[in-house]
Amino acid sequence: MSRIAVIGAGYVGLTTAACLADLGNDLAVVDIDEAKVKSLRRHRLHFYEPGLQEMVERNARAGRLRFTSSYAEAIPGAEFVFIAVATPEGEGGQADLRHVEAATAAIAEAMDGPLVIVNKSTVPIGTGDVVSRIVAGGNGAHPVDVVSNPEFLREGSALADFMKPDRVVIGGHSREAAGRVAALYEPLGAPVLIYDIYTAEMVKYASNAFLATRISFMNEIARICERVDADAKLVAEGMGHDRRIGHSYLDAGIGFGGSCFPKDVKALAATAARFDYHPELLHAVLDINRDQRVVAVEKLRECLGTLRGQLVGMLGLSFKPNTDDMREAPSIEIARLLLDHGASVRAYDPAAVWRARQLIPEVDYRRNAYAVARGADALLLVTEWNEFRQLDLARIKRSMRRPVLVDGRNIYDPAVMRSLGFVYRGIGRN
Ligand code: NAD
Repeated sequence: MSRIAVIGAGYVGLTTAACLADLGNDLAVVDIDEAKVKSLRRHRLHFYEPGLQEMVERNARAGRLRFTSSYAEAIPGAEFVFIAVATPEGEGGQADLRHVEAATAAIAEAMDGPLVIVNKSTVPIGTGDVVSRIVAGGNGAHPVDVVSNPEFLREGSALADFMKPDRVVIGGHSREAAGRVAALYEPLGAPVLIYDIYTAEMVKYASNAFLATRISFMNEIARICERVDADAKLVAEGMGHDRRIGHSYLDAGIGFGGSCFPKDVKALAATAARFDYHPELLHAVLDINRDQRVVAVEKLRECLGTLRGQLVGMLGLSFKPNTDDMREAPSIEIARLLLDHGASVRAYDPAAVWRARQLIPEVDYRRNAYAVARGADALLLVTEWNEFRQLDLARIKRSMRRPVLVDGRNIYDPAVMRSLGFVYRGIGRN
């Protein structure tokens, strides 16, 4: 059993804390947002992640998981402090390290003994050294090791991803400190890869950039498929069976969003530029992705003739299923484009409406997909929630003014949709 503090009670911090507590450790979670701390103390989460609420509750009741807004309460006596604060996009695409720096300074002030600081936030290469310098400046009295331990969990399956990772990556100048962090993960039975700190920091960016590249690659293939009458979904299936390629992240669609891929690809490109390298491929990945939003809107315009005065319904808003996360969700840009073209927009999402309301208040939010479809000129499937695979599509079609459906995630069968009487357009399939 180790005493651990986690800084930041967001998707990564709270998952890390709940899972490490579940493994029998003693966890204190610090968040500067008092409202979040207050609701977490009542075992209420401020975001949706399947299974996390129950795990938080179980461990909090067992006394292994506490929440506070005070570093002075959480840090003294801790052996490890995990930093899991946000690193949003900053100027020129660079990662904004304000929260990491503030958290580090607060740790330095509160610490009362030797400490291993474990950085879980996605940070540019060299940030571990920045953290070391801040701690040394703030509290030189106690020895501190800084270790990078990037997180690879996906929202929507965060618990399983944390508990059954493909690998755990750890990097540090001190092998001994890296080994101590590795020991925390031992119960998971996963391969633990220990590298130097710069390599560990780079593994995270390279992994996200590669996954984003697969998606943009497939979106480029999809554009070609449409022109040559091939079906991009089947092309992906055919490619994926090749073990050298695999099936994941090969879905053509309206592009990637979320709090990680867009900002991480931009941050890696910014790092490269800082070191006088022009990362051509990374820029292409971002450009293709941005244009996929326009591709979806163009398909609607082609089917409807004009968007002006048309009522378009959006099915799904979150950047992917099983989360209410709206950060960089394609739905935001798409809704804005539709509104700019003079359409009115209705939308429904199983979890993200409350967040979307704050970001795009001009949209008319409804309680379910059927209410979105009623009287609509077109529907755009934005997020592939399972609920949308189970719709009574005949009922949907009957209730629409015009039966246009653009399937931004290729979840429906074009032949079935046409036999139901829809004017159906997928991405990369005619
Ligand atoms: P988040 O925004 O959900 O959570 C961050 C939390 O930190 C917030 O609750 C915020 O109030 C708190 N915070 C900010 N400054 C603080 C401070 N000085 N002291 C204490 N608390 C503070 O962020 P997230 O999605 O959990 O991402 C955290 C990091 O992990 C980012 O670097 C991200 O790139 C990375 N990451 C995220 C995911 C993901 O799927 N969300 C996956 C892997 C890695």
